Order: sequence, then C-alpha cells, then structure tokens
Amino acid sequence: MRTPVIAGNWKMNTTLAEATALVKQMKDRLDTIKGVEKILCPPFISLAAVGELLRGTSIRLGAQNCHHELKGAYTGEVSPSMLSAMCEFVILGHSERRQYFGETDELVNRKIRATFGANLIPILCVGEKLEERQSGRAEKVVRSQVAGALDGVDSPRGLVMAYEPVWAIGTGMAATGEEANLTINLIRGELRRLYGAEIALETRILYGGSVTANNIGEFVTQQEIDGALVGGASLKADEFVSIVEQSAART
Ligand code: PEP
Repeated sequence: MRTPVIAGNWKMNTTLAEATALVKQMKDRLDTIKGVEKILCPPFISLAAVGELLRGTSIRLGAQNCHHELKGAYTGEVSPSMLSAMCEFVILGHSERRQYFGETDELVNRKIRATFGANLIPILCVGEKLEERQSGRAEKVVRSQVAGALDGVDSPRGLVMAYEPVWAIGTGMAATGEEANLTINLIRGELRRLYGAEIALETRILYGGSVTANNIGEFVTQQEIDGALVGGASLKADEFVSIVEQSAART
C-alpha cells in the first residue's frame, strides 16, 4: 500500500513574509491530517524560515530545483548538498524548467544522479506537450523522459514521480482521472521494465496539472494515482488543506 503524497509547488511566488504567513495559515490543520504525506516546496529564499516553522510537524519540505554539481563556480546556483542540509525533496524536470530554461532529459538526469548522491529525494516530473498528445506521441515522449531521467541510476529507491501533462499545467484544463491513470500506469510499466516489480510497485506517482479542491477526488480515487503535485491551488491555504483532507479520506 503506497502512502499518498500531496506536494505544493509554490513556484516563483511569495516573498519571505508571504511564505511564512501562508505556512502559519495552514500548518496546524495540515499537521493533524493522517494517512497522507504533505510536502511544501517554497522558493529557495524561504526554505530556511519555512523549515523552522515546520520543525516538529508531520509536514515535509522540498525545493523546486537544484544544480547538477555538489559545489563549484556556478554563480547564482544552489547545489543538492546545500539543499540536503535543509530539506528532504527537490522537484526536478518540471516542464517550466524544460520550457523556459532549456532543461533536457540529459540535464535532468545529471541532476537526478547528483540528488540521489546527496541524499535528497527527487520529485521527478514528466509529461507531454499538447501537440505531442494530439499527434499520438504522448506515450513515447513520457517513456523516453522516464528512461532518460533515470539513465545510470542503479536503484531509484524513494523516488517520487509526477505525471504532469504540459497542456494541463496552470491552464485550468486538467486531464481526466482516467487519462491520468492510464499514463501513470504506463510510467509504472516503464519503472518495472527498468527496475523490476518491487520498485515499480513502491514508487509513488502523482498527477499534476490544474488540481483543485473540486477535482482532486477524481484523481486520488484512481488505482495508479498516488496523490498530486499542486501548483496554483497550493498558494491558497483553505484549498490546499481541503486537497490534502480529501486525499487522506481515500486511504
Ligand atoms: C505544477 O506546478 O506542477 C502544477 C501542476 O501547477 P498547477 O497546479 O497550477 O497546474
């Protein structure tokens, strides 16, 4: 039985003061919800302060990106070893990084390997663009993103994955539960092909893309979907708490 995960990706939103205020609005309510893993991923500049507020609670902390080297002359970058001293997770391969910062499967792979090496847990995002879906290439694209990102990784134990169709992110146009379930089943199949049944069965695979308190039920009731990576709705305390509550109710 896989424990569901609800992760909030705040993206490039919230000043330090706004981030701490948002955590204070939801922390006590989130902390009491059992049976679901809760992860907050604020911007780098707020990680330390948010981490301090979450200390002693059941809410876990993640970052939104990292560099692929552990240290060095990379002005402005943040390394996996810096992050592992303050949080447990890091989102990698997000479509916004692929789209706006030119991240390729090869770069995502270097980051994934560095992350595992630094004892951080990656939340690896994959997902097809609209034109890839419309031209029938979605399956091929997603499979190759999975294999590309994990190339050379012996055992991705603890890995969390997120299937995030690009056309559904921030658009209000979520996939249906059935569509997401089918693709997540395919991702699990790819993990089975690469690593065998045990890893495939234990890896949590989330859905992401315009998840709200109104549609979360459609996803978490699907057999293969183990929770959600939530963008916009994670910036609203009441809505995020409701998403987590509904996901816990499935267990
Ligand atoms: C995301 O940031 O990963 C995401 C899915 O965003 P949204 O929920 O806003 O579509």
